[in-house]
Amino acid sequence: MANRTLTIIKPDSVRKGNFGKIITRIEADGFTIVGIKKIGLAQKQAEAFYAVHRERPFYRDLVKYMASGPVYVAALQREDAVTRLRKLMGATDPKKADKGTIRAEFGESIEQNAIHGSDSDDNAKIEIAFFFSESELTA
Ligand code: GDP
Repeated sequence: MANRTLTIIKPDSVRKGNFGKIITRIEADGFTIVGIKKIGLAQKQAEAFYAVHRERPFYRDLVKYMASGPVYVAALQREDAVTRLRKLMGATDPKKADKGTIRAEFGESIEQNAIHGSDSDDNAKIEIAFFFSESELTA
């Protein structure tokens, strides 16, 4: 069944001019973009988005990085959207990501790893609602 996931093209990707290349890869993999916007995450928004990682040692750095420059947030749709995007992204650490994945190609460190993708259908719904109202989404 077609379902949805949320991606963030992270600040390092936008800074380096890699947004176009990354979104092309996503479309080529069969995703439909059902909503997209370029935003600067406020510190408070980044804190709220990554609240699940509050207790992790890298939380402060992660929040600072995500608020360090503009990002693109997009709601994506296709069959098995969550799993397919995670596969296309590759492992969290670009050094460990499979060859040909977005993180292997565009990520520069375990933190500045080019792209976010929801990790479950339930989180995808929560994350899409974090950035988009239903009226902003069109298949
Ligand atoms: P993801 O689902 O693959 O994005 O990974 P996680 O949910 O575990 O982590 C969320 C984000 O935190 C990652 O995408 C990285 O940007 C960052 N991150 C994860 N692990 C580390 C780490 O060990 N050190 C630092 N500095 N950042 C990390």
